[in-house]
Amino acid sequence: MSVQRLLPTPESTDLLALTREIARDELAGRAAGDEAAEKFPRDVFRLLGESGFLGLPYAEEHGGGAQPYEVYLQVLEELSSAWMTVGVGLSVHTMSCFPLAHFGTPEQRSRWLPDMLGGDLLGAYALSEPHAGSDAASLSTRAARQGDEYSINGAKAWITHGGAADFYTLMARTSDDGPRGISCFLVDGSTSGLSAGPPEHKMGLTGSPTTPLYFEDARIAADRLVGEEGDGLKIALSALDSGRLGIAACAVGLAQAALDLAVDYAKQRNQFGRPIIEFQGMEFLLADMAAAVQSARASYLDGARRRDAGLPFGQQASVAKLVATDAAMKVTTDAVQVLGGAGYTRDFPAERYMREAKVLQIFEGTNQIQRMLIARGLK
Ligand SMILES: Cc1cc2nc3c(=O)[nH]c(=O)nc-3n(C[C@H](O)[C@H](O)[C@H](O)COP(=O)(O)OP(=O)(O)OC[C@H]3O[C@@H](n4cnc5c(N)ncnc54)[C@H](O)[C@@H]3O)c2cc1C
Repeated sequence: MSVQRLLPTPESTDLLALTREIARDELAGRAAGDEAAEKFPRDVFRLLGESGFLGLPYAEEHGGGAQPYEVYLQVLEELSSAWMTVGVGLSVHTMSCFPLAHFGTPEQRSRWLPDMLGGDLLGAYALSEPHAGSDAASLSTRAARQGDEYSINGAKAWITHGGAADFYTLMARTSDDGPRGISCFLVDGSTSGLSAGPPEHKMGLTGSPTTPLYFEDARIAADRLVGEEGDGLKIALSALDSGRLGIAACAVGLAQAALDLAVDYAKQRNQFGRPIIEFQGMEFLLADMAAAVQSARASYLDGARRRDAGLPFGQQASVAKLVATDAAMKVTTDAVQVLGGAGYTRDFPAERYMREAKVLQIFEGTNQIQRMLIARGLK
């Protein structure tokens, strides 16, 4: 079902129409095959780049699309409906540009941002480490200043686009001053001393590479420090506030796809002499799924509109991430139920949607961490 959207401008209506066209013609037919083959669709990101999708919420003067977050997130939702790996990949790329766009000097921005937003390059965001997940402030990858360079040593874990990215937005320790000893860097993917390990074997989102990263005396110029030394955690968390709205939008797209599949199936599957959608037990299940999708969409749009209005939105981003990803988990699980035995096979995408939903509750801050952040705001 095509979602009826309230969009702020004719330009954004055209953008969403183009998004639907790309989702239908370029993504929908490939998703199942490439996910099964664990194949990263790098070419799709080039296509999105050519269409201006790799810098949507950033300023035009740096090559961005100057779109409100409200619009950018609905683009993510539509792409994720067709292929989660692409929606999540675009969200991660966009988040990896955030530190430079918001904390870089004017000189750094004009030097690097146009290429990062321009469509050829793909970004990654490197915060997590093997021993620093939810407790990101305990990270230990170290960047030591040596003259005009930093020498970086350590390991990152779980990096989306690891090995495939052209640039990494990296959080590394520049002093032992706890959370205030972390700094943010823009690292070129071809830096010598930087390498990616083999991709993790994941239960879902298998088209998206997730790898460790290793830094062994990787040397970068000192002018690749973004913000001041010691600002890194603040920058990383600020990027995550926006990133979480992106993950919420991806979750809604996935849940919408599962709902659409379940409704179509329930209309055509007959038992006891009539379509199963006519049984009240099935109607109520589908109604709850639709209510979960719509309320999750309202939740991320609320966060986006606050962000667009220049209001604080961190709490809303955590609520949206929690509500939308829990909704996606429930709706995709229920979609498998609606399809019965067929839902448990790989003949239908319901089981893949369910596997893909799980990771949404884990990355960019687990849903336990979102609850912690929401509770903190209540005190
Ligand atoms: C597919 C995938 C892609 C990813 N992509 C990236 C990426 O691009 N960049 C990046 O930096 N990271 C990425 N991550 C890492 C992700 O952000 C972490 O996995 C996540 O933050 C959780 O960290 P952890 O896995 O170490 O779990 P842990 O922190 O070890 O948590 C284990 C469990 O303990 C719970 N827990 C921890 N602390 C608390 C607490 N205080 N209260 C209650 N419960 C708690 C957690 O909720 C979880 O259930 C990715 C992860 C995955 C799976």
